[in-house]
Amino acid sequence: MILSKMKSYEKIEQYDTELTESLAENYKTIIENLGEDVNREGLEKTPERVAKAMQYLTHGYELNPLEILKSALFTEDHQQMIVVKDIEVYSMCEHHMLPFFGKAHVAYIPNGKIVGLSKIPRIVDAFARRMQVQERLTDQIKNCIQEALNPLGVAVVIEAQHMCMQMRGIQKQNSVTTTSSFTGAFEKDKTRKEFISLVSNKLS
Ligand SMILES: [Zn+2]
Repeated sequence: MILSKMKSYEKIEQYDTELTESLAENYKTIIENLGEDVNREGLEKTPERVAKAMQYLTHGYELNPLEILKSALFTEDHQQMIVVKDIEVYSMCEHHMLPFFGKAHVAYIPNGKIVGLSKIPRIVDAFARRMQVQERLTDQIKNCIQEALNPLGVAVVIEAQHMCMQMRGIQKQNSVTTTSSFTGAFEKDKTRKEFISLVSNKLS
C-alpha cells in the first residue's frame, strides 16, 4: 500500500542537545545585544532554530571528503576529460558569517582510476559546509581529487555571489566572484581552454 511506503520514509536530523542549548543561549544574548526582545512570540524559538541552522551549515567538518572519494574508485582506461558542471555551492564566508553561493565546475583527466560521479558534488558540499573563503574552497576540492585519484590533471572553477558584498559595505549587487585552480594537464593552455569552453560561454 502506497501510504505505508510513504510513511517508511522519514528525514531524520540529529543535533547534539548540549551543543544546541549552548549555541542557543549565545544567540539569545546576541539577539538581545542587537536590541531585540527575545521573548516576543516571533523570536521565542529563534535562538534554538539558529543554533540548529548553524550546525547544519557547518556540518562539513564531520565529513571526510578524501574518504568519500576513496570509497568509490574504479579502475578504468578512459583518459578523456570528465566534466561535472553547475554543481550548486552553498557556503559561508568566514569573515562575516554570511552566505556565499553559486556554481562549481569540476573536471579531471583519469590516469587509471575514475570515481563515481555523484561523489564530486558530495565533496564540494563537504568542503562548502564550513566557514570558508572561496579561494580555499576551490583549492581544497582540487587537492582532494588530486590526492584520491592521482589523475593527469584537475580543474576547479567556482562562480559565486557573496552576501557580505551584496547586503553590506560596497553593495555590488550583481557582482560574481570567479576563482579557479588547476593541476597537471590543465596547466596547459589548450586543455584549460577546452575545459573553460565546456563549462561556460560566459567565462573566458
Ligand atoms: Zn565576507
